[in-house]
Amino acid sequence: LLQHHGGARVDIYEKLPVPFGLVRFGVAPDHPEVKNVINTFTQTARSERCAYYGNVTVGRDVTVAELQQAYHAVVLSYGAEDNRVLGIPGENLSGVYSARAFVGWYNGLPENRDLKPDLSCETALILGHGNVALDIARILLSPLHLLRKTDITDGSLAALACSKVKRVWLVGRRGPLQVAFTIKELREMINLPGVRPVLNPADFTGLENAIKDAPRPRKRLTELMIKTALEKPGDKTMEVQASAPREWGLKFQRSPQEVLPTADGRRARGVRMALTRLEGSGDSAKAVPTGDMEELDWGRVEGGPGLYPQGDAWDMSSAAGGPQPRAGLSLAALCARAGLYCSGWVKRGPTGVIITTMNDSFDTAQSVLEDLQVGVLDVSASREGFGAVESILRSRGVRPVSFSDWEKIDAAEVARGKAAGKPREKIVDPQEMLQLIGH
Ligand code: NAP
Repeated sequence: LLQHHGGARVDIYEKLPVPFGLVRFGVAPDHPEVKNVINTFTQTARSERCAYYGNVTVGRDVTVAELQQAYHAVVLSYGAEDNRVLGIPGENLSGVYSARAFVGWYNGLPENRDLKPDLSCETALILGHGNVALDIARILLSPLHLLRKTDITDGSLAALACSKVKRVWLVGRRGPLQVAFTIKELREMINLPGVRPVLNPADFTGLENAIKDAPRPRKRLTELMIKTALEKPGDKTMEVQASAPREWGLKFQRSPQEVLPTADGRRARGVRMALTRLEGSGDSAKAVPTGDMEELDWGRVEGGPGLYPQGDAWDMSSAAGGPQPRAGLSLAALCARAGLYCSGWVKRGPTGVIITTMNDSFDTAQSVLEDLQVGVLDVSASREGFGAVESILRSRGVRPVSFSDWEKIDAAEVARGKAAGKPREKIVDPQEMLQLIGH
């Protein structure tokens, strides 16, 4: 918007004092290169026509309607806010964690800083075959010396240092041709030092033929799984890996039905799975229960960690009337007339990597500009922008955090990290952040 409209001003509101959302709190700490997009954000936020207001919860401190009064256009870009639940018995038992909370925990998301996941048994079960599942498996199994160089929080490093987990099963309800993770992440997992992949060759029988005409990324991904599964003792990598103290594997065609409690009913000890067969083929194949069941236990009576990484929920209802795909929907036209837009995961659901989301936001900006051009977006009357919101916030005792405030927090985090040889030590308590900037 700033680039393509010389008169546009953009104010960014954020619930937390600190910016960058999923780039700071979702991207794995051992993927620092992915976080380079922060430089683009920073450049944008430093523009004279852009302002950042952190520590403002939209819907509590200021309503969407109040923002609509203050601005010509409001773009909702708050991502996927909640966990997706499985809706099966036992999923609230202690020892079961949503991937969102687990990722938030190791990345210093304030609301998850006290998660204290139980890492006291040897096997962890991760439900789902997506990149988040691989991120979590990698963090659980990575050698500590590698994690110590990242911006993973001190608290989670300490917990991982005491972790007894040495085996991670990633369990999917469909087959090898339907895994949602990508080749780079799989390769990283296969090459993780001190960690052995355990793939069952039988799971991959006949797949070479099946992928002949598959799109190239699916073909290469499947070939890598097949190669890993079929590696024979004596292969160089195999020899190195055979002595690895930790291992991980993929289990297919198992759909979770119930999280099983320990005898005292207080903790999770395993998951009952329905074995499935696939109906249809390719990405759209459906997992249908065969009627057979299997119990996957993590082998300790008191229970242990089980993780649910099937992606964050996309709750359309949480922003009623706003987050709808634009194309072809009259609701979208209505929203545009009201100056209401959406972009990112709140619009499309939790799929795609950062570049996908960036492209999506460019599309949204394009829609705003087009609506402006054809007059759907009415800018004839001037709007006060932050001036109006500021009085509302003041009357409610809310003090926003500016981008230069964030830069002070940033400098403090970097200084704390330096002492420990890390790129930064994240401050996980919002109160501490606010104190640091004199709020
Ligand atoms: P995802 O890619 O959608 O994967 C979710 C996985 O959970 C799928 O295997 C899915 O199986 C399974 N699942 C969903 N509901 C289930 C249920 N009720 N029972 C059993 N299994 C279930 O989601 P994600 O891993 O959370 O990632 C979200 C997005 O962020 C993705 O686009 C991902 O690529 C991206 N991401 C990228 C990176 C990276 O580039 N390194 C890192 C993290 C995330 P079905 O396929 O059968 O539904």
